[in-house]
Amino acid sequence: MNKPKMLIALGALPLLVLSACGDTESEETAAEVEGIDEPVEEVETDIEDENKSDDELESDEENDNSDEDVEEEPEELEPQYTWNQEAGIFESIGDAQSEAVLLTIDDAPDNHAVEMAEILHNLDVSAIFFVNGHFLTTEEQEEELLQIIDYGHAIGNHTMGHPDLQTLSEEEQYEEIVGLNDVIEDISGERPDFFRAPFGLNTDYTRELAKDEEMLLMNWTYGYDWESDYLEAEPLADVMVNTELLRNGANLLMHDREWTKDALEDIVLGIEEKGYRFIHPDEIALEDE
Ligand SMILES: [Zn+2]
Repeated sequence: MNKPKMLIALGALPLLVLSACGDTESEETAAEVEGIDEPVEEVETDIEDENKSDDELESDEENDNSDEDVEEEPEELEPQYTWNQEAGIFESIGDAQSEAVLLTIDDAPDNHAVEMAEILHNLDVSAIFFVNGHFLTTEEQEEELLQIIDYGHAIGNHTMGHPDLQTLSEEEQYEEIVGLNDVIEDISGERPDFFRAPFGLNTDYTRELAKDEEMLLMNWTYGYDWESDYLEAEPLADVMVNTELLRNGANLLMHDREWTKDALEDIVLGIEEKGYRFIHPDEIALEDE
């Protein structure tokens, strides 16, 4: 496939980088996800659909894929946005609406990712879920990954164990990144198109690996759900929608957290009310070569 070229910029986003994805050790089991027993129709994946059945979910008009299950890769949307890593922002291509933002959910699938995937699906929004290998160790967690994909979302690589990659040897960095892609491929049949380093901290080698693995490396534009003032749904939704950092092409960082799940619908509706649409992961231009 011919993928439009875009630059992997070197700079991280200095002001945002160190704070996100702080500690992720959540001891609860992933078993308590509720409300996910209805499989979704019109998935874009080629996973085996053992328990898929129709339901009343409405068609997502941004996913004009056919509703038959395809073995081959589903038809992709034309690239509409390029990620400028140095500027930390998406740029629209051609006639693509510039008032657009991307939603991303990191540190998944912990306790809330599937429910968040369903909430977004019901709002006709697709996001990137950046997953960690330490959340993909049980059959149940593997099933959660497939459910997220079934709900129309993309999977991104967020490393096996969420380390600071800058403290690791190249061999260890390789295992963190390529090892996780192998795990994701084993479960879903596909390797991820997106990479986000824990804490946004990359090395020359991780940039090289992302390129070798044909993943687009992305940090983010803004996020708040790890800051002490925003560990509840209401203030979080308010700041996500009303921050002056909300602008054309923003890449919004959120996490698999309870308060973020609870704020999610208000975040989506508030941002739409401000005139933005949501970038579908398939609309993002990927690396060439
Ligand atoms: Zn993280």
